[in-house]
Amino acid sequence: MPATCDAVVIGAGVNGLSLALRLRRAGLRTLVVEQAAFVGGMARTEEPLLAGFRHNPHANYLAYGAVNPLERAFDFASAGLVTLTPEAQHGLCFADGRPPLILYRNDLTQRSGESLRQYSDRDAHTYVRLKGAANALSPVMAKSLYSPPARESASRLVAAADHIFGGALNDRSARDVIDTLFEADEVRSLFYQLAAETGLSIETPGSGVGFLTFTLWLVGQLRLPVGGMRAYADAIAETARREGVEFALDAPVESITLQAGRAVGVTLAGHGHVGARAVASSAGVYATLAGMVPDAAFSAQESARILAYAATEGPTLATLIFCLSAPPAYSSARWNADIDRCFRTLVGYGGARETLAHLRDIERGMLPPPSAALRVNSLWDPSQAPAGRHVAGGDVLMPAPSSFDPSDWEAVSASFIEAFIEVWGSHAPNMTPDTVLAGRFMPPERYDRALLLGEGTGQYRTGIERLYLCGASTWPGGGAHGACGYNAFGAIAEDLGLKAATRRD
Ligand SMILES: Cc1cc2nc3c(=O)[nH]c(=O)nc-3n(C[C@H](O)[C@H](O)[C@H](O)COP(=O)(O)OP(=O)(O)OC[C@H]3O[C@@H](n4cnc5c(N)ncnc54)[C@H](O)[C@@H]3O)c2cc1C
Repeated sequence: MPATCDAVVIGAGVNGLSLALRLRRAGLRTLVVEQAAFVGGMARTEEPLLAGFRHNPHANYLAYGAVNPLERAFDFASAGLVTLTPEAQHGLCFADGRPPLILYRNDLTQRSGESLRQYSDRDAHTYVRLKGAANALSPVMAKSLYSPPARESASRLVAAADHIFGGALNDRSARDVIDTLFEADEVRSLFYQLAAETGLSIETPGSGVGFLTFTLWLVGQLRLPVGGMRAYADAIAETARREGVEFALDAPVESITLQAGRAVGVTLAGHGHVGARAVASSAGVYATLAGMVPDAAFSAQESARILAYAATEGPTLATLIFCLSAPPAYSSARWNADIDRCFRTLVGYGGARETLAHLRDIERGMLPPPSAALRVNSLWDPSQAPAGRHVAGGDVLMPAPSSFDPSDWEAVSASFIEAFIEVWGSHAPNMTPDTVLAGRFMPPERYDRALLLGEGTGQYRTGIERLYLCGASTWPGGGAHGACGYNAFGAIAEDLGLKAATRRD
């Protein structure tokens, strides 16, 4: 453990690791301190149920490789990263065995069109046109995600959305836009769900821009890291080690040391003090500012702002995990067998009206009916399960964490799993309590989903000099993209007068 270094980064999740890579490239002696014994944070892989069944309890896919400047500047493949891009990416299947809807990989958009054509010629045509326009946004998305928030990027996205829509969107909601563009009930249901998963509150005015840009752009570019999400974090960490970044694992930060109102280091449980010229935290706004910094460091107004942020909550995600003796065989597969090899299959969503009711319930704080976006990673990566067996996981949109009493979770989880297996079986008759060897519904973790908004590189500065935020509370928010850490570098570089401040990797 060094007694001093140039920069301490708190947290070895994807954002902390991304920031550390840039700091080191700029020549700073950089130490990443992590409370867990492993790197990755929410990008991790575990065996919490049966031996040999490997699950990703949070993030499961990579979606930003095409625009992530770090994936170009560093060779993660040489540090062990292998990824696969399944052909069939997003599927919606139905309990009554109607034809499934499948959206394919970006290079197979025509096949997505053929799938939508089963329900509407017009919708198929519209989707292919919109998806082409959204794909062309990659340079705009790259600039917008991997730069501090700027009015100019926001107006560029609004202009792009207006263009894709074919007229001024004004304040239209994602639901309104979807209803205007698509006529088939099934197609609307699929897009409502995808928009909600990308974090949009689909009936909120203005959310239409997000659907036409971010949601449609993300569709079709999901990658699976072989070996699980942990393999992604491990590859970034290994690259960072090769570059000279130092790591302290099993080293929780107890406090951030301040001198004359400036952050000058951290105190680690069991490891003492490490001095630094700058400290950046990906541990979350409240955990950092209320947990690691003495109250007296903030004015009453700043403390009130931190408390108000901590109370900002919205829908979140929880994860279902299952060990299976066989992969699901959906009844919809008689129309298109690809639904059985779809990377993320929506189960438990019916037509547009049910999906809307479902999403409204979640926003109102009610437990959703049994439903999930399911993946069976072992179909592509057999190392995830014992021979002949399979792992499944599911993202479940959930109301804000404070809607639950944590002491009720065991009961909520048991009844949700039982009801989910019944619904799953109605879509894939082989999914019975016999095929499902074990299952668990992981509680939604409290984590920052809201952005603590600030202008430009100010987004990453706190009220304390040389103390920075670089986690998912900063622009551009949640996702295993590392962009928050990538952008936080700009603020640190400006303040420390680093030459690389203006250079993009
Ligand atoms: C259920 C779920 C599913 C998701 N699925 C996807 C997906 O498929 N694809 C995608 O791109 N994104 C997904 N996301 C979002 C994505 O996982 C996160 O936004 C991203 O991983 C956050 O990275 P981070 O580095 O900011 O934070 P984290 O990964 O949370 O890292 C913060 C780190 O700080 C450490 N830390 C905290 N306190 C201390 C302390 N006192 N001392 C030292 N260390 C500390 C933590 O242990 C942790 O390792 C999902 C999120 C959830 C919740």
